[in-house]
Amino acid sequence: RAKEQGRNGFQFFTRDISLRAYERLTLETNLRDALKKEQLELYYQPQNLLEDGKIIAAEALLRWQHPELGKIPPENFIPVAEETGLIVSIGEWVITEACRQLRLWRDQGYVIPQIAINVSGIQLQRGDLVNHVLMSCEFYQLAVSDLELEITESVLMDDAEQSIRILTELQEYGASITIDDFGTGYSSLGYLKRLPVNKLKIDRNFIRDIVNDADDTAIVKAILAMAEKLQLTVIAEGVEGEAHCRLLSEQNCKIAQGHYFSRAVSAREFQDLLDWERVNRRSDP
Ligand code: C2E
Ligand code: MG
Ligand code: MG
Ligand code: MG
Repeated sequence: RAKEQGRNGFQFFTRDISLRAYERLTLETNLRDALKKEQLELYYQPQNLLEDGKIIAAEALLRWQHPELGKIPPENFIPVAEETGLIVSIGEWVITEACRQLRLWRDQGYVIPQIAINVSGIQLQRGDLVNHVLMSCEFYQLAVSDLELEITESVLMDDAEQSIRILTELQEYGASITIDDFGTGYSSLGYLKRLPVNKLKIDRNFIRDIVNDADDTAIVKAILAMAEKLQLTVIAEGVEGEAHCRLLSEQNCKIAQGHYFSRAVSAREFQDLLDWERVNRRSDP
């Protein structure tokens, strides 16, 4: 009996695995179509100066609207895109689309210093990232310094040599390089010094309870102190309340991003934010 149960258990197990494999395959097949069928869209979230709330950049965030499956969050499809290598063409589309949008905003007279783009480690290993960035900037008449590239810490650790080489090249062309989700990886101080990095984006897990959790406050303080020594800019992500802002300002953090300022919104809605800013700052010196 036990044997039979075991066999059943095994069957359930394999059935479960193949179901997941099936779901994954479906997702992959759908994802291949998504680009062609224009189901992907970029949303934008502002990065703001804590001092006066001024928008200094927009982070482009991928959205996938599937006609039957509905809205699929990036956390669900980006890992699939990475495993299948699809992230290379999706990532190229993201760069082109973000550049197109920035050009459009600027042509409409909006002041928006930079656009931040998330880059997957796979793009550093397999794609032709440098050329794609240069071509997109040239086509849309942007400076490479208009782009900020966000890379997570783990990527830099996985294939350090190759990643560092490509990021250094991009930085030499003027792009700013940001370590995203900073603090969740294991970069040592010495390691940070070697990396071509301009900015650290403190992971929102350290920001969430910063007001009540003394450990988080201490971690954020330490990151800010270290960044100052290394002459790196710091941005806090996941800033949701006024108390967050106050505390971060007190610690001399200059830039923040989060729901307190705005969620990620469509390009159309982002324009409303820019309009609001334009009207409200017209009288500024
Ligand atoms: P990320 O780059 O760290 O982006 C920040 C995420 O936090 C976004 O989620 C954003 O909507 C969310 N967020 C912003 N402010 C707040 C806040 O105040 N509170 C909370 N709770 N959340 C906030 P989203 O858009 O779902 O993106 C998730 C992740 O997917 C991104 O994390 C990034 O790693 C990845 N991703 C998104 N777009 C792209 C892309 O074009 N390429 C690649 N390679 N990855 C992308
Ligand atoms: Mg990011
Ligand atoms: Mg992040
Ligand atoms: Mg993240």
